[in-house]
Order: sequence, then C-alpha cells, then structure tokens
Amino acid sequence: MFKYPQSILNLIDSFALLPGVGKKTAERYAFYVLNEMKQEEVEEFVKNLESVKNDVRHCSVCGNLAEDDLCPICQDTSRDHSIVMVVEQERDVLSMEKLDEYKGLYHVLNGAITFSKGISPQDLNIDSLIERVKKGDIKEVILATNATLEGETTARYIKELLVNFPDVRVSRIAYGLPVGQDLIYADQMTLLKALEGRREYK
Ligand SMILES: [Zn+2]
Repeated sequence: MFKYPQSILNLIDSFALLPGVGKKTAERYAFYVLNEMKQEEVEEFVKNLESVKNDVRHCSVCGNLAEDDLCPICQDTSRDHSIVMVVEQERDVLSMEKLDEYKGLYHVLNGAITFSKGISPQDLNIDSLIERVKKGDIKEVILATNATLEGETTARYIKELLVNFPDVRVSRIAYGLPVGQDLIYADQMTLLKALEGRREYK
C-alpha cells in the first residue's frame, strides 16, 4: 500500500499538534508547505518557530512576555509601580495596553483556578504576586481576572490572601460585560469602562 514519505507524515503530525487543527487540515498544510511555499518562506517559518521558543521568556517579576529578564512594562520607570493589575493571560496585558489608559504594572497568573481541570492555586503565579506585595511598595492590586466562574474563584482566592496586607487596596474591575466573557474578547469601550468603574473588592 502506498504511504506518504516519512517526512511528510512527520510534518502532518507536527501541524496536528496545533489547537483546532485536525488530521485533514494538517495534511493540507503539509502539502501547502511542500508545493506552494518558497524555500525562503520555509526557512523564515522555521526561524520564527525557533526564535519564539529561544528568545521569548517570561518576565521574572510579573510573568508577562519578555525578551530580557524584565518585560518592557516593568522596566518603564514612567509607569506607576505602586499599582498592579492581575490578569489571567499575557494576551490580557495587550488588550489593556491598547486602551493606552492604565499606567500601572501587571501580574500575569498564567491561567485561573479550575478545579475541574486540576488547575489549583499552586499551578498559577500567585505566590510570586504575594512576594511582590510583601516588599511593601504596592498600594493597590486590581483584580482583572475574567468574569467567569474560574476568574471569579481566582479573584476571591487572591482577595483572601491579601487580607493579610491591610494597607493594600484591593479592587475588582467592574464588568459591564456579560458574565462568562473573557477579557480578551471585550471591546475597547467596555474594557475602558470596566477599568474606570473598578470598585473596592470585599
Ligand atoms: Zn514584567
């Protein structure tokens, strides 16, 4: 029986690792690379894949994307280093930055507490947040996790931990968005209103 050459099978397997890509699509991509892409495009593609793994890391302070030890936001001395906004994902930082309104720092949790998937507080960057607060320079923590069950559970959990720091104001962004919506899907106006309308979190 005829079989594709091994290198094509390997490439199909690689594409099939991507979320939302099934075997059929992976096969289509593999043949696209083989028949349609120019040699330079393939080389560029390989270079980009390697570079994103080798050159991009997580900021040692906030967990945001960085190419140095610290991300550009943590390095920026013109920003207010006494306010920290807690978000679930790196992409949430970008959504908020697009508003050009918030001038504090961030803390990226890398997910939300999801007991059904076995994601517990220990799997998230929560300890490092508490360490930052312990240093004493932070006056406000804005909880900007998603308006989902998981996001709310996570905000509650962090709020409880921050009770030990009575000098730190804890606020939650006001969601004018439908409950259940992720931050990254919010439109700019809604996000701006959510930031402006943040309230003390009790
Ligand atoms: Zn940072």
